[in-house]
Amino acid sequence: MEPLFASSMEEVNHLLGLKEDEVAILEDADAAANELLVSEFEKYVERKYNPEIAGVLRRHNLMGVPIDEKYGGRGARQLVEALCLERMGQTGMGIITFADVHLCLGSLAVQDWGTEEQKSRYLPRAATGDVVFAYGLTEPEAGSDPASLKTSYTKDGGGFRLSGSKYLISNGSIATNMIVFARPAGDAKGVTAFIVDTKQKGFSVDMRLEEKIGLFTSDTSMLTLDDVFVGKDDLLGEEGRGLSVAYSALLNGRIGIGSGCLGVMEDCLNQVKERTTSRVQHGKEIARHQLIQKHVAFIESSLEACRWLVYRAALKKDEYENDPKNLSLRADADRLSAVAKYMSSRCAFESADRAVQCFGGFGYSIMSPVAKHFLDSRVARIYEGTDEIMELKIASSVLGKQYEAYR
Ligand SMILES: Cc1cc2nc3c(=O)[nH]c(=O)nc-3n(C[C@H](O)[C@H](O)[C@H](O)COP(=O)(O)OP(=O)(O)OC[C@H]3O[C@@H](n4cnc5c(N)ncnc54)[C@H](O)[C@@H]3O)c2cc1C
Repeated sequence: MEPLFASSMEEVNHLLGLKEDEVAILEDADAAANELLVSEFEKYVERKYNPEIAGVLRRHNLMGVPIDEKYGGRGARQLVEALCLERMGQTGMGIITFADVHLCLGSLAVQDWGTEEQKSRYLPRAATGDVVFAYGLTEPEAGSDPASLKTSYTKDGGGFRLSGSKYLISNGSIATNMIVFARPAGDAKGVTAFIVDTKQKGFSVDMRLEEKIGLFTSDTSMLTLDDVFVGKDDLLGEEGRGLSVAYSALLNGRIGIGSGCLGVMEDCLNQVKERTTSRVQHGKEIARHQLIQKHVAFIESSLEACRWLVYRAALKKDEYENDPKNLSLRADADRLSAVAKYMSSRCAFESADRAVQCFGGFGYSIMSPVAKHFLDSRVARIYEGTDEIMELKIASSVLGKQYEAYR
């Protein structure tokens, strides 16, 4: 399989005024995405998790892209992180899920909310890949409504003891550390975030979910915490402010998922171009049939429109990072990241569907590269906030807080 990276990215980099060291990060992302093409496809066909992802990202120095240089990372602004995930998304959402959770939901949560001591302890090892993060918010009875989560904690001398179940957790069985959200036992109020060492006694993986309809190369696990000890130094943010930690991580994460979806659209476009200009039916290349061109036009237009949404959200987040007391910038970044994720995930899935259509019967085979995108990109409309939750969030950000329909 030959990689088919879109040449238009050079033009985009130029337009965005990327510096040399930023372009170098993107070149590393291209190299990693290329290197993972074969194993990602093989593991997808076998319907297995791809254990090579972490090692390849590590080798290309991509495990700490947004982590400050002072903690051993590459100090990339959100825009560059987004472009990096866009590049890797061409190989598929399996890589993106791993990277987004480790970088945006894990490392950035520690960077944004951690004490100096926590940052020094975790971030340098996250940047080398010795620490791999998971993010444990969802539970069997708490998905779209995380405020109803039941995992609980009690205080225990020098720390805390956590008990409960976490459900559908990406990187759940491979992470060294997981950001876990829990509430005080017997008290309905106040969620707190903790950095949990997954090797602690009482932390167990009940099941690795392999019967998914796609995203086979990403690890998704069901976990139990049974009286797991967490030292007081591993409380993340203030006690009772866990949902703020969770939502700020999701702001970053949604930009990451939107970025990965751009990569999916790019690959769909390239695959469709190659296939429709070589396949002949009714005496001519199928690309010469106008109804096939309709699909090409849809994918290209979706890609270009969504690029703007994702880059704009990333630029707004960068603006907020430079002016962190400005809450209106934060609200804008939050809205734009929801818009970017909502539109890009829908467009990526529809682009993959149209690519399958252009491939005809071969598109319906598990062996076609576009079928992989069709199966894998569907999840982006569910995790990190479903389509419906994004719609409610976007609408209330326009109408005003009093119109929040999920309250
Ligand atoms: C492959 C995969 C990986 C994942 N990785 C992680 C992870 O790493 N960490 C993590 O914490 N979670 C993870 N998740 C969980 C994911 O975030 C949840 O599945 C998602 O938030 C939806 O929750 P739910 O599945 O409980 O669905 P539910 O909340 O039960 O929703 C079911 C349906 O009802 C709709 N709905 C719910 N409430 C409303 C409302 N108020 N108004 C309108 N419609 C509503 C939803 O939009 C959806 O269509 C992952 C999920 C998958 C599939």
